Amino acid sequence: MQKALVWLRRDLRLYDNAALHYALKEAEQVWLTFIFDTDILKPLLKGELDTNGLKHDRRVDFIWQGLKQIDDELRKQGGGLIVRFGQPTQCIPEIAKELGVNTVFTNHDYEPSAIERDETVRVQLEKQGIGFETFKDQVIFEKKEILTNSNTVFSIFTPYKNNWLKTLQEKDLAAYECNPKPGQLAEIPKKLSAPFPSLESMGFCPTGIESYLPPGSEGGQSFLEDFLHRIDQYQVGRDFPAIKGVSYLSIHLRFGMLSIRGLVREAHRRMLAGSMGATIWLSELIWRDFYFMILSNHPRLAKGASFKPDYDNIAWESGATAKKLFAAWCEGKTGYPLVDAAMHQLNQSGYMHNRLRMVVASFLTKDLGIDWRWGEAYFAEHLNDFELSSNNGGWQWASSSGCDAQPYFRIFNPITQSEKFDPEGKFIKRYLPQLEKLSKKSIHAPWKAGHIELEAAGITMGKDYPLPVVDHDEARKKTLVRYSVVKKIA
Ligand SMILES: Cc1cc2nc3c(=O)[nH]c(=O)nc-3n(C[C@H](O)[C@H](O)[C@H](O)COP(=O)(O)OP(=O)(O)OC[C@H]3O[C@@H](n4cnc5c(N)ncnc54)[C@H](O)[C@@H]3O)c2cc1C
Repeated sequence: MQKALVWLRRDLRLYDNAALHYALKEAEQVWLTFIFDTDILKPLLKGELDTNGLKHDRRVDFIWQGLKQIDDELRKQGGGLIVRFGQPTQCIPEIAKELGVNTVFTNHDYEPSAIERDETVRVQLEKQGIGFETFKDQVIFEKKEILTNSNTVFSIFTPYKNNWLKTLQEKDLAAYECNPKPGQLAEIPKKLSAPFPSLESMGFCPTGIESYLPPGSEGGQSFLEDFLHRIDQYQVGRDFPAIKGVSYLSIHLRFGMLSIRGLVREAHRRMLAGSMGATIWLSELIWRDFYFMILSNHPRLAKGASFKPDYDNIAWESGATAKKLFAAWCEGKTGYPLVDAAMHQLNQSGYMHNRLRMVVASFLTKDLGIDWRWGEAYFAEHLNDFELSSNNGGWQWASSSGCDAQPYFRIFNPITQSEKFDPEGKFIKRYLPQLEKLSKKSIHAPWKAGHIELEAAGITMGKDYPLPVVDHDEARKKTLVRYSVVKKIA
């Protein structure tokens, strides 16, 4: 009898899952497992802990809740999820051996450290005579599937997208059927039926994330349904953080609680029917594929390298002043309301609107002169949807060092960005209530408001709200000089 183990990682769903589909197709008995990877979680335990010595990390909580849903569903069908807290390189071969499976099935991961881990697991399993089969699942096209006419990897988005769309066929979007036969999802043997590890036993506390982000496929589906009512207006609302213009699906996508094929199917069908909103949204999903493709073909990016090597010659600010400015940015105390409100959104919820990610990243690198890697690391720690490929891509785009980045001399003005994308100051007021009484003219640059308005609004600059940490026009000039090293090389 063929037996299989499905190793879930960033594909936390029981429908349209390539690895699960092939396991169900090939084996009579199938088990599923998830390993809370100590190599990933231990570094997260550093830093501030609560009074019980536990770490507040919304992502670990979100994953945990998503897995609970999967376990409940599997139990209803006679199986259960085997969950461990340990090193996958040890746990997977152990569990596979204990179950006596012929093959372990899993889906591709494109991060260099994950590729290395998977290779170690493959070798371990091979020594035990167990197969290891892996599948494309989290993207539509991967690795070198989309190439230029001269068979090289794309580094510019638009031609990549055009080729991606040209290549796309119905089969690329077909859902993988995952309907187990009765009894096929096998009961967990007694030897392996350790209880589901609690968050606390792994060093983490509940975060309440479910109150605004419903976890699992069910949660993702409810967000998707809500968005599909709005998708046709996506191109109109997507740049305005005060309104509900985007999908907020990035975290469900990050952990594979929704299938990318399902999302692209929805967008593509509407695009063919003439929806501009769906066309632009599909383009965003293609950016996601693009950055996965870039990372898998340029693994050096995971080690901090600039995509354009010349940009590694830039001399960023350093020392105590840089540290102080960075702290002001992290804490949302730069004196630029849109930047500060955005950082509060991130710190309070783990989410930041895309327009604001661009604004704060530009501000950090081109107003404060701080290395994009500092910002990338801060986002990696705080974003619920942190994804190495898109995060690195976004930071390198903003700092101009990336593959298809904005030119180095394009420097966002944080005041005009604020006037354009939060004209009424509604988003700012949500996160900076102390600025509530400022007029829509002054809210973007409170230090420019007159004494009378500031007094009437109850604001003392420097006390109720910081004075700007830098002058944008001066910073802009400094940045052009800083980046001239790139110009000279070019
Ligand atoms: C500096 C910076 C850092 C970023 N870090 C991340 C990150 O760690 N993880 C992440 O998922 N996205 C990241 N992005 C991209 C983008 O900001 C988020 O995907 C988006 O804000 C998520 O919100 P949403 O799901 O409502 O997006 P929507 O606007 O509804 O877009 C739908 C989906 O398309 C994908 N997408 C949208 N924009 C991009 C983009 N520019 N690049 C790649 N994929 C995109 C995401 O999967 C997103 O969920 C970053 C962007 C910047 C500028």
